[in-house]
Amino acid sequence: MHYYSLHHTAPKVAFSEAVIKGLAPDKGLYFPEKITPLPATFFETIETLDNVEIAYQLIQQFVGNEIPEQELRAILTDVLSFDFPVVPVEETIGTLELFHGPTMAFKDVGARFMARCLGYFNRNNSNEVTVLVATSGDTGGAVAQGFLGVKGVKVVILYPSGKVSDIQERQLTTLGQNITALEVDGVFDDCQDMVKKAFLDTSITDHKQLTSANSINIARWLPQLFYFAFAYKQLKQKNKDIVVSVPSGNFGNICAGIVAHKLGLPIKHFVAATNSNDTVVNYMHTQTYTPQPSKATISNAMDVGNPSNFIRIQELFDNNFESLKDSFSAYSFDDATTREAMQSIYKNTQYVADPHGAVGYLGLKKHGLKDNEYGIFLETAHPVKFLDIVEETVAVKVAIPAQIQKVMGKEKVSIPVQSYEELKTFLLSSK
Ligand SMILES: *Cc1c(COP(=O)(O)O)cnc(C)c1O
Repeated sequence: MHYYSLHHTAPKVAFSEAVIKGLAPDKGLYFPEKITPLPATFFETIETLDNVEIAYQLIQQFVGNEIPEQELRAILTDVLSFDFPVVPVEETIGTLELFHGPTMAFKDVGARFMARCLGYFNRNNSNEVTVLVATSGDTGGAVAQGFLGVKGVKVVILYPSGKVSDIQERQLTTLGQNITALEVDGVFDDCQDMVKKAFLDTSITDHKQLTSANSINIARWLPQLFYFAFAYKQLKQKNKDIVVSVPSGNFGNICAGIVAHKLGLPIKHFVAATNSNDTVVNYMHTQTYTPQPSKATISNAMDVGNPSNFIRIQELFDNNFESLKDSFSAYSFDDATTREAMQSIYKNTQYVADPHGAVGYLGLKKHGLKDNEYGIFLETAHPVKFLDIVEETVAVKVAIPAQIQKVMGKEKVSIPVQSYEELKTFLLSSK
C-alpha cells in the first residue's frame, strides 16, 4: 500500500515511510492510495470474531507487507488489551466507551499502535527518532504512555500552559525517561503551529529525524477505525440503522470511522459534535472553510480551530459536498449547553458523562433519530480526566481509577517555552 500527499506534489511512499515522516515533504497529509472494501461476509459474521481478528482484517491492507502477519497480530494483541463496551443510556441510545486504556482516553489505541509500529521499523536501527507532538490534552498522555521506554525513540510533547486538566498535565509531565514535556505559553494551535514549523525547518531536520504522533500520522489515525467495528459487532443483533456521533476536535477519530464505512461497515450516518470551535459546522453551512483561532472550552481536548483531518474527510467523499452532506452532519454546542446535558443525562439515566461525551450526546439529540435507528455517542474520555468540571456540574463523586491514582502523587516536570526559537534551541541542544 502506498500513500500520497494531499498536496499532491510529494512522491508516494510506503506505509513505513509515511509513519516515520508523519507529514509529507510538501506539508500535505498522507492518504492511502486505495481503500478496498472487505467482503460482505466479514461484516455479516463479525460477532463470531474476536477484536484482534477484526482489527487485523481491517488494518491489513493499510500496512501491506511491511510488517509480517505474525508481528502485526502481536502488535494488535498488545494494543487492544482492554474493552470497548457499548453501554445503553436511553432506549435507542448507547455510548461506546473508549476510555478503558492506560490513560483513560481514546487516544491510547492510536498512540500504542504507532509506538509499536515505529519500534518495529526501528528494530535494527541505531538512529534515534524524535517524536514531536502537540497536545490539546489527551494526546500527550497517551503518546507519553505508549512510547515510554521504547528504545531509539525520544518524545517531546508541547502543551498549552494552563489549558489542560490537572490529571492530563500529570500524565504527560511525570513519566521521565525518554519523555520530555514543553509547557508552551499559548493555546493548542500555537503548539501545533510550532510542531508543523519544526518539521519543515531543515536546520533541525538535517540533524534530527523528527516524526509526529498527532492524528496527522497515519499510524495514529487509522487504527481508530477499529472502534466503529467493535461497536457494530455489539449492536448488530438489534437490526437497526446505526448513527454515530463523534465528539470532534482534529476530526481524526470521525475520519477513521468514515474509512471503516468505506471498508463496508454498515453505519448510516456520522455526526460530528463540536464545542464552540465550530469551523467545520460553519463549513457545512457556507461551503467555505475558514480556520479560526481556537477557543478554550470545558471540553478542552476538542479546542481546535483548524482541524487537520477535515481535508482527509473531504478526500474520502471525493471532494464532493453533496455526498459529504448525505453521510455527515456537524453541530456545535457551547459550554452551558454541555453542562446542562451532563446534568440531564445523569438525572435521567445515572450515567456520568465527561464534557466530550456530553457534546457527542448533544450531537445525536440535535440530529435526531428515526424509528429504525439506534444512536451511539463516543465516550472519548473517562469523567475522572475532567474531575473538577464533572464534580462541579453533576453532584457526584467520581471514584479515582488505579491508572489515575498512579500519577496523582507524582511531581510535574516541564520546560517552559515562549517561542518557536526556544523550541528549536531545545531540539538542537538535546542529545
Ligand atoms: C482528542 C480528543 C477528542 C477529539 O478527537 P479528534 O480525533 O481530534 O477529533 C475528543 N475527546 C477527547 C477526550 C479527546 O482526547
